[in-house]
Amino acid sequence: MQFITFSGVDGSGKSTQLELLRARLKQSGKKVAYFHAVEFSLANRLARVLKGQKTFQPGKEKAVTQSSCFTVVIREKFFFLDLLRFRFFLHRLKKEGYDYLLSDRSFHDSLIHLAYLSNCFPVKIGLSCLEYFLPAPDQAFYFDLTAETIMARERVPEQGINYLRAKMKLFQEKIPKWNMIVIDGSRDQESIFQDIVAKLND
Ligand code: ADP
Repeated sequence: MQFITFSGVDGSGKSTQLELLRARLKQSGKKVAYFHAVEFSLANRLARVLKGQKTFQPGKEKAVTQSSCFTVVIREKFFFLDLLRFRFFLHRLKKEGYDYLLSDRSFHDSLIHLAYLSNCFPVKIGLSCLEYFLPAPDQAFYFDLTAETIMARERVPEQGINYLRAKMKLFQEKIPKWNMIVIDGSRDQESIFQDIVAKLND
């Protein structure tokens, strides 16, 4: 099974491209599973229960942009549990004969988010340890474009331009280490899609 992840800041075009790829692969008879890192997260599920929200709504969830040191530590623990749960999830999909697992955001994105939230040094050390437990995708695509381009799009991320810039900076530091395939996300949807298809492993 090929595990493919789409990473990038909010509004960079991940979901749009994932849907295009999912449709293309299904059309060619592949068994495709879908994964959304935010939906899977135990910490986010718990937050949804506490807010009385029943279902996950991709693209409509209000992102957490501020957190106390204590909350980040709790999120870090939940994150570790998510990594373990994901191993079982992968194992089940392989047994069920899936050809592809397409992931909208990955654990790498979640780690970037935790790093963004974290201002206290001990937590940062904990996060860099977690990096070694991240599941390695077969291909990880990163959508690269400026925050200004995103803010000029139809659906503008509510978190604002400074949030996008700060997260992009964190991604830039990690992209080479995480072997991400950088996709120029500033082009039209069809050009981006053709680029992704051309870069896909057989
Ligand atoms: P993400 O999943 O990364 O948050 P989306 O795929 O939901 O991003 O796209 C965010 C917004 O940008 C949507 O309104 C979408 O229609 C639009 N969009 C996506 N790709 C492009 C593109 N290549 N050019 C212009 N607008 C785009």
